[in-house]
Amino acid sequence: MANKKRIVIIGGSAAGPKAAARARRFDEHAEITIIQKSPELSMASCGYPYYIGGTFDDRNMLLSTPTGVVRDPVFYLNAKGIIARTETEAIKIDRNKKVVTCKDLKSGKTDDVPYDKLIITTGTIPKIPPVPGVNLEGITTLQSIQDADYLRKIRDEQKIKKAVVIGGGLIGMETCEALNLAGIDITVVEMLPHLLPYLELELAMLVENHIKAKGVHLITNNGLAEFLGKDGKLTGIKLSNGTELPCELAIVAIGVKPNSELAKEANLEIGEFGGITVNDYMQTSDPDIYAAGDCIETNQLITGKKVHAPFGDLANLQGRVAGENACTENNATFKGTIQTGICKVFDFTAGATGLSENAARKNGFNNIETVINTSLDKPGFMGGTLLITKLVVDKTTGKILGAQCVGPTDVSKQISIWAMAISCNMTIEDMINTDLPYAPPFSLAIDHSITTAHLMQNKLRGLLVSISTNEVKKKLDAGEKPFIVDARAPDEFDAMRLGIGEVLIPLGTLRKKLNLFPTDKNAEIILYCKISLRGYEASRILKAHGWTNVKVMEGGIMAWPFGREK
Ligand SMILES: Cc1cc2nc3c(=O)[nH]c(=O)nc-3n(C[C@H](O)[C@H](O)[C@H](O)COP(=O)(O)OP(=O)(O)OC[C@H]3O[C@@H](n4cnc5c(N)ncnc54)[C@H](O)[C@@H]3O)c2cc1C
Repeated sequence: MANKKRIVIIGGSAAGPKAAARARRFDEHAEITIIQKSPELSMASCGYPYYIGGTFDDRNMLLSTPTGVVRDPVFYLNAKGIIARTETEAIKIDRNKKVVTCKDLKSGKTDDVPYDKLIITTGTIPKIPPVPGVNLEGITTLQSIQDADYLRKIRDEQKIKKAVVIGGGLIGMETCEALNLAGIDITVVEMLPHLLPYLELELAMLVENHIKAKGVHLITNNGLAEFLGKDGKLTGIKLSNGTELPCELAIVAIGVKPNSELAKEANLEIGEFGGITVNDYMQTSDPDIYAAGDCIETNQLITGKKVHAPFGDLANLQGRVAGENACTENNATFKGTIQTGICKVFDFTAGATGLSENAARKNGFNNIETVINTSLDKPGFMGGTLLITKLVVDKTTGKILGAQCVGPTDVSKQISIWAMAISCNMTIEDMINTDLPYAPPFSLAIDHSITTAHLMQNKLRGLLVSISTNEVKKKLDAGEKPFIVDARAPDEFDAMRLGIGEVLIPLGTLRKKLNLFPTDKNAEIILYCKISLRGYEASRILKAHGWTNVKVMEGGIMAWPFGREK
C-alpha cells in the first residue's frame, strides 16, 4: 500500500512496545518498527527482584503475555504486525533526513531506518558512584535482565555469604529482600538519614525496624567511599567514616538517570534533570519525534514543576499516548504525575502518593497540616492488622497534598484511594463521607482512609490537638519534661511500654484521677495509648476539665519508631 506511515520506536521494554501496540490499534496499515538494543523485548523489570528471590523460577514469565506466549520478534510480527529488531542499537537520529541509523550488535553492520514519526523510549542508566574499585568482579546493579540473571545464579549457587546493598530506595529494598530470602547476610548502606526517601522519618523508621527484625543490618547517614578487592574480586567496601564491611557481592542501587544521550546528540531539548523535554502530547521539541517513559521529564501536577519520575506505570501510560499521537492529530494527552509509588519490604508494604510534609514545605506550601493515623484495616475478628498513614493537607485550600502508608496489609488500597483523591483535587471535607465498599473481610465500617480523613478534620477543627512521635522525641532529647500519660490498661502497660517518663492512667479511671494531673492548667500534657484513640478521648476529658495544653501523640505506641523500654 502506498503512503504507509512509518513509525519507528527506539527502545523495546515498557514504553516502546506499549506505544507500538497503541499505534497499531489506530493505524492498521502503518509500518511500525521497534529498535531494541537487548536480545529480549517487553521485559517485566519490576518482576526481577521476585525472580531473584525465587517467587517464581521460569525466566520466560518475565517476558510473556498473560497467556504464556513469549513476546519475541515472531510474536510481535504475527500477533501485532510489528517489526521488532532486537540486538540492534539506534546510534544516531538524523532529523533532517528523518532516519535513524541502527547498528546490528551481532554483525556490526549499520543501516538507516526512515521514519515519519519517531518515538524515543530509551529508559534510564543506573548511577554508578565514582569511587575506586568500581570495576571489581562482584559489583552489579539491578537494571537489566542480565543483572537479574546474574543475581538469580548467585541465589541458586548459594556460595555467597555476605552482600551489601548500596542505596535504600525501592530497588535497593526489593533486592535486599530477594537476597535475604536466598540466605545471604545483607547490609544496606544508605547515605541519607533513613531508608525509602519518599517516606518521612517516622514511617521510614518503622520499615527500618521491620527489616532489622528480619536480620538485615542497616547503616544510614553513611556513604560508600571505596570498593575493596583482591585479585580483581570484591572483598568488601569502605564507608565514608572509614568503616570497612567485608562482602563478596555489592548491589549498587543509588538511583537512575535518563538515557537521553541519543536525543541530546540530535539537538532535542533536554530538561534540568537530563530527561527529554516533552509537552502533554509527549512531543519533543521536534513535532515529529515523541518520547515516553523513563527517558523524559514530566510535570509534577501538585507543584507544577518538572520531575524525573521513572516508574513502570507512567512509562506505559506515556507510551500509550505517544503511540496514539504518532497516528493521530495529537488526540491524546498525558498531563503529569503526582508521584505515586509502592514497595514490598518483607512482610511490610510502604507506599506514598503526592507530597510528603518535607516536599510540601520545600515547594512553598507554608500552611499545611499533617496527621498520623494508626488503625485496623479490618475487624479484629477477621484478622485485622494495623496500618499507619500520614496525611498532608493544605490548610489554605483544604486540598489533600499527600499520603504515605506502611503496614503489613493492604497499603496499596490506601495509597490508591489517596492518589485518586489528589488527582481529583479533593479536599478533606470531600473525603470524610466517601462511600467505599465495606464488608468485614475487606475493611472496617469506616475504612482506614476515611478514619484518617476524620482525624485530619478533627485536627483542622481544633477538636484534636496532636503531636507527632518525632516531635515528642525531639522534646525529650532537648530535656523538656511534658507530663506524659499512657492511657492503656495495666496489663498492656506490663507487656509493652515506651519508658519515656510516662505515667499510666488508664482511660477508664481517668475521670477519678484528675488529681494526678499537673495543677498548672497550662502545663503541657501528652497523651497516648496503643493507637491513640483512648489518648484522644482522654484529651477531650482533660480539656473539659480546664487543661489547655493537651496533645495526643499521633499513632500511639504502634507508630513510635524509636527504642522503647519494653
Ligand atoms: C528491578 C526493578 C524494579 C522495578 N520495580 C518497579 C515497580 O515496582 N514499580 C514501578 O512503577 N516501576 C518499577 N521499576 C521501574 C520500571 O521498570 C521502569 O520505569 C520502566 O521499565 C521504564 O520503561 P521504559 O520503557 O521507559 O524504559 P526501560 O524499561 O528501561 O526500556 C528501555 C529500553 O530501551 C533500550 N534502549 C536504550 N537505548 C537504546 C538504543 N540506543 N537503541 C535501542 N534500544 C535502546 C534498552 O535496552 C531498554 O530495553 C523497576 C525497575 C527495575 C529495574
